[in-house]
Amino acid sequence: MGCKQTDNVGAYVGRRLSDEQREKYEIHLQNCVRCRSEVKIFSKIKEVLKTRPLYSIPKDAPKIDVVDRTLATIHAIEQDPKYLKLVAKHGSEEKVPEADYMKIAKKYFNKK
Ligand SMILES: [Zn+2]
Repeated sequence: MGCKQTDNVGAYVGRRLSDEQREKYEIHLQNCVRCRSEVKIFSKIKEVLKTRPLYSIPKDAPKIDVVDRTLATIHAIEQDPKYLKLVAKHGSEEKVPEADYMKIAKKYFNKK
């Protein structure tokens, strides 16, 4: 029961899809249980991350390590003052240009 579009889940939850991509993906979500459940899991973890400080995530966290780290990174980016400024400038998170987002994201993804 694989779905190639599960690759979009992270970007979708992290709000990195363009308006058009998001709309398309949301239509897909209505028909794909697999993606829906992944979105649910990602959203849940993202929510949890928002309620606890980043440093509470153990560096060698087991099992969902990759997901946890990815979402921790997304979370960290969303807290970045530069990112928040961009969001304010563009009116919403969805409108922040990919290039600008990546400039900020780079710093976090390169961090060990
Ligand atoms: Zn799917």
